[in-house]
Order: sequence, then C-alpha cells, then structure tokens
Amino acid sequence: MSSGILYVVATPIGNLADFSPRAISTLQNVDYIACEDTRHSATLLQNYLINTPTTALHNHNETSKAPYLIAQLHQGKNIALVSDAGTPLISDPGYTLVKLAHQHGIRVSPIPGACAAMSALSVAGLASDQFHFVGFLPAKSSARQKNLTALSQSTCTLILYEAPHRIVDCLQDIVAIMGGERTLTLCRELTKTFETIKQDTASNLLAWVSNDPNQQKGEIVLLIEGYTLPENSERQRISVELDTLLTTLAANLPLSQAASVAATLSGIKKNQLYQQLLAIK
Ligand code: SAM
Repeated sequence: MSSGILYVVATPIGNLADFSPRAISTLQNVDYIACEDTRHSATLLQNYLINTPTTALHNHNETSKAPYLIAQLHQGKNIALVSDAGTPLISDPGYTLVKLAHQHGIRVSPIPGACAAMSALSVAGLASDQFHFVGFLPAKSSARQKNLTALSQSTCTLILYEAPHRIVDCLQDIVAIMGGERTLTLCRELTKTFETIKQDTASNLLAWVSNDPNQQKGEIVLLIEGYTLPENSERQRISVELDTLLTTLAANLPLSQAASVAATLSGIKKNQLYQQLLAIK
C-alpha cells in the first residue's frame, strides 16, 4: 500500500475570507486533521462544515505523537496539519512531524495561505529582498536585550512577533540597543477590524505606542529596518582591508607584483596601488 500525504495547511490570521478553497477541500477530504488545539480549530472547521476527525499535535506532545501519525500515513491515511492561525511551523508546532515524514519518505505537501510575517513584510515598506525572520524574542528582558544586540548589525530587515503586553518593553530595548533613529514598522491586527500599519523611527514609535493603550492590544508583528553601515566607516573599512591586503602581499612579493595581484583582486588600478604601497612602506 502506498503511503498517504501529509498536507501542511495554512488557516486565516484574522479574516475568514482568507481561507482558500483548496485548504477547505483538503481539510474536508483528509482522514485526520492534526490541530495545535482541537477546540480552537473546531470553530473554524464547523464554520466550513468540515467534519473530519481531529487529533491534537502541540509543542508538549509532538515528540510522542509524531511517530503515531507517521504510522497512520504509512497505512495510507492522508493527514492535514493546522495550527491555531496562519502557517504551521512558523512560530508554531509541526517541525518534528514534518522532519519525521521526510525521514520516512512520506510526501509532504503545502496548502499555502496566510502568514503574519509575510503579510507584514509585504506592507511594511522596508527592504524585502533580504529578511531575517526572528519570531518571538525571549520574554526575559536580559535575554531579549542580548538577542537584540546580536541582531543589531544585521543588514537584513528583521521580522519579530511580539506579545502586546511586551511591546513597550521591546521598543524600549530596540531604542536603547539599535538607536532611536532606526526605522520600524508596526503591523497590528492584520486582516482584522482594527488593522494598523505604522512606520516611524524607533523613538517616535515608542512614544506613540506608550501613549496609546489601544496599540498595546491584539496581535503584533514588528519589523526593523536593516543596519546601514555609515558611509565614512564603510570607506574606512575598505581602506583598512586594502592596506592589510597590500602589506600582506608586499611581505612575500616584489612591490610591483604585489600591486599587480592586488589590482586583480580589487579591480583598482595597479599604478594607484603601487603608489599606495610606496606610501605604506
Ligand atoms: N503561524 C502563524 C503565522 O503564520 O503567522 C504565527 C503563529 S504565532 C504563535 C502568533 C503570532 O503571530 C502573534 O503573537 C503575532 O505576533 C503574529 N500574528 C498572528 N496573527 C496576526 C495578525 N492578524 N496581525 C499581526 N500579527 C499576527
């Protein structure tokens, strides 16, 4: 008997109209739905007349439950994995099951849909060519500050999930560690009635959120503009690197040859590098 398929199905992050027809028919037709929380998903499933049996798969039982679901898949059952909202595995359970399915040669197929991180990135007005999905930062202030420090010189747009009761503390840490001038975009209650998308400097956003309790409610994605190296220090860095390259080459080669190799590596004119070498020597 051939194995069943594990479908990873995205559900809406607020607006039920974002539930795709393919997600609905997949959930109607599989043998089981593995839910992060069966009671939470029941409301959505009832709404769409989905009567498929559900079973719980959450952070606390995933390690023990995944082998059972894999056995069911081996017996030819099709299973859909859903989380409370959005795309499973994105700051949600499912990784252990999906990894095990691959190890067992079981087909895993996505039914794409809403994801708060991607929805936020698409409207944030920050560079989207390179981004770093951070997910939730640690709740403890010292650990959060340590994480932010490690991320502070990343040149990618950073995407954070943050709990509403920690948003002010998180913004305070961002201002302290990354500076008040860094551009942020706060995306709150996406696809819902009180959807709010606001871009400003970190210090202005901190003041705005601190002064309006409504901005400290609901679900939040916070995006941080990537770090830009100040132009002067970029020039300084390149100049230091070039000097290091030239002196290293000149230690082992005649000056003219050192200048020639450096010219090939850097694209800078050989004569200019030769003059620089003479100045360094
Ligand atoms: N798997 C989900 C996804 O695909 O986005 C994320 C699950 S994670 C446990 C929940 C977090 O996602 C929330 O705390 C919030 O940071 C973010 N989130 C979920 N829905 C959102 C929404 N409608 N607007 C803004 N952020 C949302």
